[in-house]
Amino acid sequence: MSFQSFGFIEPINQAIVKNNYLTPTPIQQKAIPHILNHKDVLASAQTGTGKTAAFCLPLLNLIGQSRPGHHQKSLSPDVLILAPTRELANQIEKEVIQFSRYMRVNTLAITGGVSYNLQNRLLKNHLHFVIATPGRLMDLMRQNKIQLKHIKAMVIDEADRMLDMGFMPDIKKIYEATSNNQQMMMFTATLTPNIEKIAQNFLKNPVRVAAENKIEAHKNIKQYLYSVKNYEHKKQVLDEILKDEELNQAIVFTSTKRDADKLSRDLFTINHPSKALHGDLSQRQRTQIIDRFKDNKLKILVATDIAARGIDVKEVTHVINFDLPRKAEDYIHRIGRTGRAEKLGKAFSLVNTSDRPMIRKIEQYAKISMEFLTMKNDEPEKDFRSEPFKKSFKKKFSVKKKSNSFGSRRRNSASFPA
Ligand code: AMP
Repeated sequence: MSFQSFGFIEPINQAIVKNNYLTPTPIQQKAIPHILNHKDVLASAQTGTGKTAAFCLPLLNLIGQSRPGHHQKSLSPDVLILAPTRELANQIEKEVIQFSRYMRVNTLAITGGVSYNLQNRLLKNHLHFVIATPGRLMDLMRQNKIQLKHIKAMVIDEADRMLDMGFMPDIKKIYEATSNNQQMMMFTATLTPNIEKIAQNFLKNPVRVAAENKIEAHKNIKQYLYSVKNYEHKKQVLDEILKDEELNQAIVFTSTKRDADKLSRDLFTINHPSKALHGDLSQRQRTQIIDRFKDNKLKILVATDIAARGIDVKEVTHVINFDLPRKAEDYIHRIGRTGRAEKLGKAFSLVNTSDRPMIRKIEQYAKISMEFLTMKNDEPEKDFRSEPFKKSFKKKFSVKKKSNSFGSRRRNSASFPA
């Protein structure tokens, strides 16, 4: 199946070519024809499957084909896309802008942290696409800066995450402000009974589509475990992973904002400059850090789960779970930051025996069995002093204790050592 077979208008086909997309992904193949047919769609697809283009492309097509209506000067956009985080909203905005490069389409992301002035100014033009986080959109609705009576289509992206973050009451209010006649789409990484129930509030006779399962989506990501004793040990293992010659860019995940700050500082002292990314930073700081990371001016990002979705940087070769996430599905989202656009990626989790239940959950959820790697301290020198290791190690540290040495990796069985 080719993109041509969807029958998109020419400017969109050109943008697809310009973007180097050759064939539609499974979720695109399944969802696009229905969205073009004005059907409501309930899609289970996680990030990394091409879900964003699966709704952006047909919606752009619908906008491109529709004649300007009488409400063109009204405060109501044509398409409303709701996303749980600023990062994801910005990512979707970028994608819409990319694919509408040969069209006249006004797009605006309405998220917390962006100046009200700028948003107000932009809201004076007729907007075709608004991509919003629920909180800020509600603010603007209360101030009568935006109306939703005339929207033609609405997307609730990452509905499961929205639910987790407590956004559902806001989304209901937002939906109530629409005419309820618009085409509705809901995308979710996991289709739980709860999400099914919520979907009934928003979708009318939805067509259901699903991306290939998660393993398929992450086949190009090699996943490993490291057994670690304590913080110091974790740092040493991390240091070794970060010295991997195949590493281009890496995201290291910690559980808390404080841990991210601390680890980022600690990494600096062992010659791995990084930045911490978490929800305590201002939007400007967050954007700055993400932009530097995207431009490959920053190699290592130490982040909380705020970065687990939405960040789409093709050069990320390594994801390291310095701490395991609290949910198996967050693990899937985190590791999905690597292996973007069919590239190869590696994911490492630094774990100890107390993580055993979570590892089991992840393995069951993702239907995988992760390989255990151990850094062995006590092997004879010749075994762990491979050339690249020896060089970088000697250059950066004056070796005091042999127990600091990590180098030879021994592969164990997939079971957890006692
Ligand atoms: P998403 O699941 O929307 O986060 O997309 C994951 C990544 O796949 C993004 O980098 C997209 O640019 C890329 N992508 C989406 N659709 C295609 C396609 N048909 N061919 C190649 N890359 C794609």
